[in-house]
Amino acid sequence: MNKTEALIMLKTKGFKHTDKREDILELFEDKDGYLSAKEIQTALKDAYPGLSFDTIYRNLSLFKELMILEETELDGEKVFQFHCTEHHHHHLICLRCGKTKTIEVCPMQDLSRLDPEFKVTGHKFEVYGYCKKCQKEMEKTDKLAESDLVNSR
Ligand SMILES: [Zn+2]
Ligand SMILES: [Zn+2]
Ligand SMILES: [Zn+2]
Repeated sequence: MNKTEALIMLKTKGFKHTDKREDILELFEDKDGYLSAKEIQTALKDAYPGLSFDTIYRNLSLFKELMILEETELDGEKVFQFHCTEHHHHHLICLRCGKTKTIEVCPMQDLSRLDPEFKVTGHKFEVYGYCKKCQKEMEKTDKLAESDLVNSR
């Protein structure tokens, strides 16, 4: 899913095209990772000073309903990103930059055998860590901090 596809989807389903909706989708296009309602409000506060959480959430749940966005929870906060694929999948999530990567592996395939009497209706599975780029940057800052330490001696 991307902004262009999302706008077509909105139009096909008979939803009004508004600048606000387009601007929210634009943020997701640029982000390549999760966004919270708060981040959206902050990013759009110059363009729409009176933009309320209510309006943002209403749009986000509409986008979710239309399968434009997918939702998860990070640190107890609801976050959203463009829906990556139609079929069942999970994510690797970078804790530093928020980038996500889709993985096709699903642990439930093994877990479903544990209790055949339990009727499973859903599950959540997310893998947290640091992406390659962040690992490199973190190494760099570590080294800088080390050399600072040496220099200050
Ligand atoms: Zn996804
Ligand atoms: Zn990262
Ligand atoms: Zn799964």
